[in-house]
Amino acid sequence: MINRGLGDWIHRRRFTSRGRTAVISSSGELTYDQLDERINRLANALAERGVRPGDRVAYLGENHPSFLETLFAAGTLGAVFVPLNTRLAPPEVGFALQDSGAAVLIASAPLEQLAVSGSRGADVGHLLLVQDGTPHPAERREGDLDAEDYEQVLTAGSTQRPEAEVQLEDLALILYTSGTTGNPKGAMLSHGNLTWNSFNVLVDFDITSDEVALMIAPMFHVASLSMGALPVLLKGGTLILEPRFEPGRVLELVERHRVTEMSGVPTTYQMLAEHPAWDDADLSSLRTLTCGGSALPLRILEAYEERGLSIGMGYGMTETSPGATVLPARYSREKQGSAGLQHFHTQVRVVDPMGQVCPAGEVGEIQVQGPNVIRSYWQRPEATEQSFVQEPDGTWLKTGDMGYFDDDGALFISDRLKDMIISGGENIYPAQVEQAIAQLDAVAAVAVIGVPDEKWGEVGRAVVVVREGHELTEEQVLSHLDGTLARYKIPKSVVFVDEMPRTASGKIRKPDLRKAYGG
Ligand code: ATP
Ligand code: MG
Repeated sequence: MINRGLGDWIHRRRFTSRGRTAVISSSGELTYDQLDERINRLANALAERGVRPGDRVAYLGENHPSFLETLFAAGTLGAVFVPLNTRLAPPEVGFALQDSGAAVLIASAPLEQLAVSGSRGADVGHLLLVQDGTPHPAERREGDLDAEDYEQVLTAGSTQRPEAEVQLEDLALILYTSGTTGNPKGAMLSHGNLTWNSFNVLVDFDITSDEVALMIAPMFHVASLSMGALPVLLKGGTLILEPRFEPGRVLELVERHRVTEMSGVPTTYQMLAEHPAWDDADLSSLRTLTCGGSALPLRILEAYEERGLSIGMGYGMTETSPGATVLPARYSREKQGSAGLQHFHTQVRVVDPMGQVCPAGEVGEIQVQGPNVIRSYWQRPEATEQSFVQEPDGTWLKTGDMGYFDDDGALFISDRLKDMIISGGENIYPAQVEQAIAQLDAVAAVAVIGVPDEKWGEVGRAVVVVREGHELTEEQVLSHLDGTLARYKIPKSVVFVDEMPRTASGKIRKPDLRKAYGG
C-alpha cells in the first residue's frame, strides 16, 4: 500500500535526514528518526482506539510537538486532522467537534476544562491529554469522557509503521474558517492541496534544508501551519515551537539557534522592533521574514530595513491552503501596500459582476484557481455551490474579497465584498476608511459599516473604541477625514463602543456590528 500523502513525509525524512533535528521545543529536541518513531506509535495507539481511514482526529493545543505528531499520525492512517483554535469558547469547540464528527480529541492538559466542556454533546470517543504546562484539571460531570495520558499511550504503542493507502486527493485536514462573515465553515484540505501549497512556498521563498524556522504564531492558524511549518518539514529543516509570542524571548531564540525564518502579522513585527533588546540582538541569521493578514505599515518595514532585513507579504485564506499571492521581500518597498504576485503554481484573477476579467487598475472580485485550492466545504453543499464557479478554463474559488492588479501583476486588496458599502451608486471599501481613522492616536480599534439612508441608499457609520486615557469626539473623527478622503466615503456618524466583537483569530465580526449599530 502506498501512502502518497503527508503521512509519508517524516517517514521518508527518517532516512534522508537521519540524525538531523526536526523539532525543538520546551520538551527538548526530536530528530527526524525520533519524530517518525513517535508518529508511528501514536498512529498505532489511535488505530487501537478505533480510528479508521477517513475518521476525524481533533487537536486542541498551543504549539507543541504533539500537534505535529497528531497531524502526521492521522495522515499515516489516512485519517483527517482537525486543529482547533485554543481561544474558542466552549460552545464553539463543541460546534467544531460535532460538525466534524471527531472520533478522538487530543488536548493539552491546561486546556482540559475547555476540552471537556466543549465535547459535551459531541460524540467524541476518546480524550488524550498532553501534559504540557500547568495542568488545569476539569470539573467533570457524569457521562464526560475519561482522559488518557498522551505519553503513556505513546509508550504502549508499537513502533511498526501502520499501512494505509492514501492518495493526494484524499482529505487530510478539516480547517474551520475564521467565521468573520458568518458561521465558520469546514474547509476540506486534501493531501494534494497541502503538498502544492508547500511547493509554492519552497519556490517563492527559496526554502532550503538548512532552514531553522521559529514558529511564533499558533499552528492551528493555517498560515502558520501551512506557510511556516509544513514546507520546512518537507525540506528536512528544523522547527522551533513556541507556545506563545514573547518578543524578548523571540529575539533571544533567534540569536541562540541562528534562526533563518519567521512569519507573523504586522503587530508581531512591530512588537519585536519596539522591544528594548531589539537594538543589541544579533539578527544576522535571519533570511526569510513573511507577514500576512493585513498590509504592513511602512514605518515597521523601515525599522527592519535599518537592520538590513526586509519582510515579504502574503494574501490567502483557509480555502487556498492558504497561499494565493506573495510579495517577495525584495519588492516590499516598491510595491508597499500590495499583497503581491500570484503564487508560482496558482492562478489569481479579478472579475467584474458579469464574470468578465477586469483590466489592470479596475476593482473586482478576486478568484483563485490551482492545486492548492479546496473543492468543497465539509457538509455545506450550499456554501460549496455558492463559492465556486465553473469555467471552460477550470474551477475558480470566489474569495469574496475585492481588489485590483497593477500593471506589473501585483494585487492590491480593497476589502471584502460583503463589507462593501454602496452609497449613491459609489462603492466604499471600509478598509480604506478604517485605515484613515486608525491614524488618529486616540483610536484603539475601528470598523466602518453601512447603514440605510433615504437619500443615498446606504451611508457609512464608524464604530470606534477609544484608547485608554484618551478622548475623542465624533466631530474630531469626521474633521480628520475631511480633505483626506472623498466626501462620499466619509462616514455620516460615529458610534463609540467599549469593545469590538471579535472572532477567535481576532478579526472584527462585522455581522454583529451591523446587527447592533446598522439599524
Ligand atoms: P469566514 O470565511 O468564516 O468569514 P475569514 O474569511 O476571515 O472567515 P480566513 O480564511 O481565516 O477566514 O481569512 C481569510 C481572509 O482574510 C481573506 O479572505 C481576506 O479577507 C483576509 N486577508 C488575508 N490576507 C490578507 C491580506 N494580506 N490583506 C488583506 N486581507 C487579507
Ligand atoms: Mg473567508
